[in-house]
Amino acid sequence: MRDPEALSARLASAIRLLAAEGLMDFNGHMSVREPETGHLLINSRGASRATVGPRDVVILDAQGRQVGGDGAPPSELPIHTRIYAARADVGCVAHFHPPYATVFGIAGAPLVPVFILGSLFPHAGVPVYDDPDLIRSSAQGDAVARTLGGGRAVLLRGHGVVTVGEDIERCFVASIWLEENARKQAWAAALGAPRAFSEEETARVRASLWEPAVVRKTWDYYMAKGRRSGTV
Ligand SMILES: [Zn+2]
Repeated sequence: MRDPEALSARLASAIRLLAAEGLMDFNGHMSVREPETGHLLINSRGASRATVGPRDVVILDAQGRQVGGDGAPPSELPIHTRIYAARADVGCVAHFHPPYATVFGIAGAPLVPVFILGSLFPHAGVPVYDDPDLIRSSAQGDAVARTLGGGRAVLLRGHGVVTVGEDIERCFVASIWLEENARKQAWAAALGAPRAFSEEETARVRASLWEPAVVRKTWDYYMAKGRRSGTV
């Protein structure tokens, strides 16, 4: 059943959790596509990512016209609208500037699966969108969507990352797992050459980890942690 208020509340919680975990700074955004209407819900440009609530969520129709909420959508809205246009399987898009994954795009070092959670991402490395400009036009959004392809994450060089999922929970979990793999790869590189997973190992570990029970467990962990700290 349609419940845009509950969807807005869950989206706002996910954004506050990403901020609390240090993945999202003052500038990121996350959106969700309402399955019944195709409406896009996204945090407003001006709302603090640390305190964003359901009232800070802006609602746009499938053509990008604002149909609800106060405030304006983020200027990089085309990241969201163009990925939704390209990917019928995607129901949630997040863009943020996490400390570790972003550095891989800066260094030009491939971000590859080195830790079990990183098996969610391509063995050949997370694709990199090479243009550091902000993504403010449809053409730029289309180019990001092309670089993302059928995957779950794309690095924006000198800027940040975009992650996608079928729903808020899976997009949130993919974001956490991407940054955790990046953190461990960066630390391992200080000790020696990281031992990346082979293509076969990546597929095998992914098959055992990327399942609803593990996604739920990850989401529940961060929600519980957020409740204890007063974040959600
Ligand atoms: Zn950005």
